[in-house]
Amino acid sequence: MSYSDSMNPNFDLNRTPLVVIWEVTRACDLACFHCRASAQPSRNPLELSTRDAKQLIDDIAELDPPIFIFTGGDPLNRPDIYELVHYASMKYLHPAMTPSATPLLTRDSLLELKRSGVHRLALSLDGPTPELHDSFRGVAGSFAQTLEAMAWCNAIGLPVQINTTVSKRNLGELENILAVVRQFRIVMWSLFFMVPTGRGAQEDMPSSEEFEDAFERLLRMSRNVPFKIKTTEAPHYRRFVLQHRPKSKSERNKGNGVPGIMPVNEGKGFVFISHTGEVQPSGFLPISAGNVRDRKLADIYRNSELFCQLRDGKNLKGKCGICEFRDICGGSRARAYAISGDSLAQDPCCVYQPRATRAASTNSEAGGGNPTASI
Ligand code: SF4
Ligand code: SF4
Repeated sequence: MSYSDSMNPNFDLNRTPLVVIWEVTRACDLACFHCRASAQPSRNPLELSTRDAKQLIDDIAELDPPIFIFTGGDPLNRPDIYELVHYASMKYLHPAMTPSATPLLTRDSLLELKRSGVHRLALSLDGPTPELHDSFRGVAGSFAQTLEAMAWCNAIGLPVQINTTVSKRNLGELENILAVVRQFRIVMWSLFFMVPTGRGAQEDMPSSEEFEDAFERLLRMSRNVPFKIKTTEAPHYRRFVLQHRPKSKSERNKGNGVPGIMPVNEGKGFVFISHTGEVQPSGFLPISAGNVRDRKLADIYRNSELFCQLRDGKNLKGKCGICEFRDICGGSRARAYAISGDSLAQDPCCVYQPRATRAASTNSEAGGGNPTASI
């Protein structure tokens, strides 16, 4: 994908999410320090049953999102996971999955997932060495298991994506993580910028300046890789990419790994269903707009007050509310909520000063017209 890639203008985010992600369980045998789900070894008895789960998959199929992901916890902790993947696949949902690197993830389980219909697997890698990665995951041997699973995916022809949680603990290691990732055939490197929710602590969250420095390095790396590098919970990377867009088309087309500019944000193109059926704008934003046991997913996504409020940029507060990048960025709603308790507050980790605030502080004209004209 290049700079010129963008969302189909006919795709209506008010009606259809681009991404539906379902947390099938919170059970997980790892103990990550940053786990948003505060995952535990045992399954919650209130998880959706197999029957509820199939009803949910029917509802998701009705929404017809381009991307559907089984996540957790560790999805492999559900004994009916292959049946559910197969069911989703029969509904043409092309599911992806994010299993944890534990002894449950074997070559045979990967083959079974592929046979059941998993189209893409996402594995987590948080450091370039066993010491750093395993310290994130809380279990020795996780680094080796992750690399082994990556190799198996390559061997059996299952497309694999790497997810990395970015925190103060590994900010300096992004280039070294990329060097490890490049030893394998991957389709995407996705960087999740830490949100202090669940077990995630605020002191591990990078500062605004550290976000900006990471953006600069990611954009540089993106120009030299054959796969896409994208961010999660850092929508202001889109602002950064636009601010640094090369002027010439030929230069722009060189950026194979540079993400397209899609105005997706919590509740706006993205919907998360928890292990107990609560519908949230994101896994990192733990506010429920309803439960799939009581109300259709499509109805909650399209009509609930929470989702409608988040989709309307005019509701944003602080500098995000007056920012000329508001409609393509909007700031992380999850991070705003985690820090201030208000999901509409400004993103606390962005250095950008909107034109209106700069103009006010220099007592010059605020500028007007189309706010995106100078982007
Ligand atoms: S692997 Fe995922 S679900 Fe498991 S503890 Fe880590 S972050 Fe939580
Ligand atoms: S101020 Fe808010 S909307 Fe503007 S770029 Fe920063 S995070 Fe995005």
